[in-house]
Amino acid sequence: LVMIVPFLVLAATAVRSRAVGEDGPRDEIIVSVLDVGQGDAMVIDGPGEEAEVVIDGGPGEDLSSKVANVLGRDRTLNMIILTHPHADHLAGLADMFARYSVEQVLTTGVRYASKGYDVFLDAVSASGATVTMAVRGQVYDFGEYSLEVLSPPHAMDGASIANLNNASVVIMMTDRRTGKRMLFTGDAEAEVESELVAAGASIAADVLKVSHHGSQDASSPAFLQAVDPSHAVLSVGAKNRFRHPHLRTLKRLGRTDATIWRTDRDGTVAFHFTPQGLSVVGAQ
Ligand SMILES: [Zn+2]
Repeated sequence: LVMIVPFLVLAATAVRSRAVGEDGPRDEIIVSVLDVGQGDAMVIDGPGEEAEVVIDGGPGEDLSSKVANVLGRDRTLNMIILTHPHADHLAGLADMFARYSVEQVLTTGVRYASKGYDVFLDAVSASGATVTMAVRGQVYDFGEYSLEVLSPPHAMDGASIANLNNASVVIMMTDRRTGKRMLFTGDAEAEVESELVAAGASIAADVLKVSHHGSQDASSPAFLQAVDPSHAVLSVGAKNRFRHPHLRTLKRLGRTDATIWRTDRDGTVAFHFTPQGLSVVGAQ
């Protein structure tokens, strides 16, 4: 199946001029995959006042200024999602509680010994945000869009997990107006991908946030075939020590119909879900 979407590439300056302190067009859901180097940090900015979500916080502590570039002067975040507590997804998040009033935190509550995770958990409890443990089947309503938890299949609160990547919260965003979808995979590896395919989960999506920075342990052929994305975006640092993305993963992605976006090459990549369809803004 080849999905035909209106496709548009604008200069990065267009992103900046739009982002100076004010919301974008009121009918757009804008998903920004932030350029945070080697790690993941994404912002969903819906048309409503109550539709702002951050997924993961990247490896650095300057996240709040990058989020402010997208959200402008707004000081409320409706939800922060931590997919899993590895530092490249976590480190920027603690700082967010100083700048923003955070209403809800969605995470797994897995056990993991790290200073950064302790700091994050302390910031969460001090903030007074509602904390929910992610488990398959939960659906969060943000007006024009919804977020559905696809993984983990069972509650993981307090559990010690051998491979933390496979404890990632996997989320499907759906634009309710058009049915267009974006899949957020965290760092989930092939084991989770197979489980989702075997469970018959509805994982077809227009946009795929490629799992685990393009590691060869994720993006298995059967999974990519089931997702069948029109766009695939890799959040990855230039010349990172993990040598992500892996050449084999890029080859597997190349066999799909997806346009490939990379934060190391394209900077912050913004997916604009509009009532008319989907357009993409990157520095390319
Ligand atoms: Zn990672």
